[in-house]
Amino acid sequence: MNVLIFLGPAGSGKGTQAQFLKDKLNYEHLSTGDLLRAEIKSNSDLGQQVQSVIHSGNLVSDDIILNIIKKNINGLKSSNKSGVIFDGFPRTIEQANSLGSLMNEMDLNLSKVLYFDLSLEESINRISGRLIDSRNNNVYHKISNPAPTEAEPYLISRKDDTPDKVTHRYNVYKNETAPLLDYYQSELFRIDCLQSIDAISNQITDLVDSFELSH
Ligand code: ADP
Repeated sequence: MNVLIFLGPAGSGKGTQAQFLKDKLNYEHLSTGDLLRAEIKSNSDLGQQVQSVIHSGNLVSDDIILNIIKKNINGLKSSNKSGVIFDGFPRTIEQANSLGSLMNEMDLNLSKVLYFDLSLEESINRISGRLIDSRNNNVYHKISNPAPTEAEPYLISRKDDTPDKVTHRYNVYKNETAPLLDYYQSELFRIDCLQSIDAISNQITDLVDSFELSH
């Protein structure tokens, strides 16, 4: 089974691409951000534990993240999926090391790490217009990617999407997550996030076709 990792700052389009590609490519989409927000919404013990960390824009501990990944990856081998997209995971070197062990145990093969490259200025710009459909976590933008009319009553803004929190998250990303660009140097594929949504998804589909054909 193939593994794709989506790496990049907030607003770079990881979730938007994943929601589209998971159906097109028959991949499982695992977003640690979505999984954590679901825990908060259900008011579980874990949700209560992570709520303030997430709203402040800091990272949740590696232990918690690893547990949540393990919980959600179990059924994967017996599913009919061709691969999995990790969106927002790993975010630290320690998480990347743990993912390496997990992939060995589960016989998963790291195909590519897609680096969604975006400046801080553009990140703030995009996040301030971001809207989420609370029913299914689909991501939209007020101007560049408007939601369908029927979804309008369900649209919400995230509490950590204010300009100051986005700046903070960008700094956390630079310090904790950007070192993974070196870590995954040999699997890295850079995406210019100023391209259109369609252009980027075509680029990713071509890339996935090329490595699936070569196997
Ligand atoms: P973004 O829009 O910044 O890419 P996500 O939706 O992926 O955000 O994640 C939102 C928040 O959830 C992060 O700011 C962080 O607090 C927490 N989080 C998500 N994934 C991880 C992870 N792999 N490690 C630590 N914290 C995480």
